[in-house]
Amino acid sequence: MTAKTFPAATILGYPRIGPNRELKKALEAHWSGRLDEDGLLFEARKVQDRTVRRLVQLGLDAADSSIPADFALYDQVLDTTAALGALPSRFADLADSDGGVGTAASFVLARGDGERPPLELTKWFDTNYHYLVPEIGPETCFAAVAHQLAGIVRRQKDRGAVLRPVLVGPVTYLLLAKAEDGAPAGFDPLTRIDDAVAAYVGILGQLAEAGAEWVQLDEPGLSTDAGAALAAPGGLVEQVYRKLAEAPVAAPGRHANGRPALLVTTGYGTAGDPARAGEALAVLAAVGVEAVHADLVRGSLPSAEALRALGGTRFVAGIVDGRNVWRNNLLSSLDVLEDLQAQSGAAVSVGTSTSLLHVPHDVAAESVLPAHLPAWLSFADQKVREAAVLARGLAEGRSSIAAELQNAEAALRSRAKYDGVVSPAVRQRTAALGEADFTRGPAERRAELQQARLGLPVLPTTTIGSFPQTGEVRRARAAAQKGSITEAEYEQFLKEEIARVVALQEELGLDVLVHGEPERNDMVQYFAENFDGFAATGNGWVQSYGSRCTRPSILWGDVSRPAAFTVPWTRYAQSLTRRPLKGMLTGPVTILAWSFVRDDQPLAETANQVALALRDEIADLEAAGTGIVQVDEPALRELLPLRAADQAAYLDWSVRAFRLATSGASDATQIHTHLCYSEFGEVIAAIAALDADVTSIEAARSRLEVVADLAGFGFRRGIGPGVYDIHSPRVPSREEIAGLIETALAAIPVRQLWINPDCGLKTRGYEETAASLRNVVAAAKAARETL
Ligand code: GLN
Ligand code: ZN
Repeated sequence: MTAKTFPAATILGYPRIGPNRELKKALEAHWSGRLDEDGLLFEARKVQDRTVRRLVQLGLDAADSSIPADFALYDQVLDTTAALGALPSRFADLADSDGGVGTAASFVLARGDGERPPLELTKWFDTNYHYLVPEIGPETCFAAVAHQLAGIVRRQKDRGAVLRPVLVGPVTYLLLAKAEDGAPAGFDPLTRIDDAVAAYVGILGQLAEAGAEWVQLDEPGLSTDAGAALAAPGGLVEQVYRKLAEAPVAAPGRHANGRPALLVTTGYGTAGDPARAGEALAVLAAVGVEAVHADLVRGSLPSAEALRALGGTRFVAGIVDGRNVWRNNLLSSLDVLEDLQAQSGAAVSVGTSTSLLHVPHDVAAESVLPAHLPAWLSFADQKVREAAVLARGLAEGRSSIAAELQNAEAALRSRAKYDGVVSPAVRQRTAALGEADFTRGPAERRAELQQARLGLPVLPTTTIGSFPQTGEVRRARAAAQKGSITEAEYEQFLKEEIARVVALQEELGLDVLVHGEPERNDMVQYFAENFDGFAATGNGWVQSYGSRCTRPSILWGDVSRPAAFTVPWTRYAQSLTRRPLKGMLTGPVTILAWSFVRDDQPLAETANQVALALRDEIADLEAAGTGIVQVDEPALRELLPLRAADQAAYLDWSVRAFRLATSGASDATQIHTHLCYSEFGEVIAAIAALDADVTSIEAARSRLEVVADLAGFGFRRGIGPGVYDIHSPRVPSREEIAGLIETALAAIPVRQLWINPDCGLKTRGYEETAASLRNVVAAAKAARETL
């Protein structure tokens, strides 16, 4: 029995949180004990049913496998771990009698249980989504226990929908895994591939039995250097998929030992060797995979040769961008699709470049966007329509979608000529930039001038910027937004909050103070709201991890800063203390990383525009008397391209943007930066090239590992490795902090070392914050005595 034909249009995945964050709310209610497991699963099924209904309305077919069953409650990698029963030994007790992992158990993996820390969270490729890292050892069990996924498929089938279940593919799964604690040194999870593949074979059987006709295996790992090396002809990918494809395809409706047809997706770049684009797909096709997908937005078009080699295998062209929010250029997409179809000689299906998990649900749900924007935008729902329309155009000819083509054209034209998309003043400024705009005076000289001005003790203490955002702060912000308190009342409230935070820091004895950032909802959105060229959304939530969502702003035009906005707060805070107080800004790279960026010019150009806007703010902070300005770049590592070959160019423009933002400052102004959320070992040279006078960096959780890298590199500027892990309410003892300071002092010259927490304190409560900072200051003072 041959496979059923693959549908003409599909998406790789859809946002899972619900259009009004229904799933987020249900999860949080469940975790706080307000909703039992049945209640949670009931809510989850409502979201699933709504998704299926919605996707059908938008043009997908409920019965032809075009709708992915991708309904992870928390994370799709966690769900794959559950389907494989691949519990780390430290969680082995969570297995059901048949090795399965139930909902409650999966939340223990995701969130820990008090005694055991959860699985590690890490960035999913170069996105702001975070997955739970599988922990694999030589003894990890692999089983075929896809009960939950099979249950979803079966339930939807009873409701008349044949969905396409989605799993992370075996190669990517093991590439994303780490060796579990206690595994022999150098153990590589990929060495377990045969056991994993055997379990996948079983899972495919279970899904066929549940009624799935197609299964989607996501292999975005093939777009990394490590994965690409495995995707060459004769490599591991070929071996793995030969085994998976070996079993015959089950006849729909009967389950006799067959498997569903396989769609293997790639995404997040070009799978395999970029110089031989499409070869990896041909490898998959040759061993009998029924459909293969390529990311045509971030990745390159498969070569004509690779397309011909696909033979009878369906090619799913990922031409609708899964990661950004711009309306598709339908006409040029159709050109590409027709070309692909002609070259491959086979039928081409239209798909998204990645799951739509990275974009919000629906432009139509927006009420606060400026009037010109909605027509230019495409969120998940609009993208589904785009895929369906393109598929129709491809099958039935351009005239069948003439109206849609025309509308898209009109939107694109209006975007191109809209006032502010290109601002001549901004363009003149970036065009006139010269090397001097990226360079400050000699660092030694700066250090002398700054010390003369600031008069700081050795081992100066400071914090990273935010202080606890209490319920009171959040309520006041919401009230101001609703208009239930006046602007003047809100301002008064913020001033009192700032005064409290400044007084607390003085009482604690910190050396360099902050104003505490109570006026900021989010470290990027706050800047987007104060810059021209940006728009904030009202409901544009995107899952970051688990139930956590962010609302990225949309950078649509040339960026500039109409007026100083951080200055009044900083000036007010400084007026309350004689100690130096830092101005606090978010850096250009982080602003880009956490926004949807325009797709009509290189990111490097946009970065320079943002940098100039920040440069203006720094000049105004200096004019107001600020002696220290911190420019946070926590996302510097996050945007690092997946492929080593692309990294140097990225690091070059991102470092230059930071320098452009900061090098207008006088040599007597101390520039700080702050980095977190990543391991920075491989980008130390770039951190040094930022040329900040002081760099604070997350380090407490790794027991200051980064200090050795910094010392090895010969890092010369001020450095504050975090000595207080702010990710939990735990109060570190004085002795523990003293130990970390000692570790740092063993590697870093004392005159370079700063003492600070790992990151901002906004998610903490006041009690633990004050107690922890008290210990930080005491440990720093004690360390000074021993010098
Ligand atoms: N200044 C910011 C804060 O303290 C930095 C946050 C961050 O690095 N993520 O909140
Ligand atoms: Zn941080």
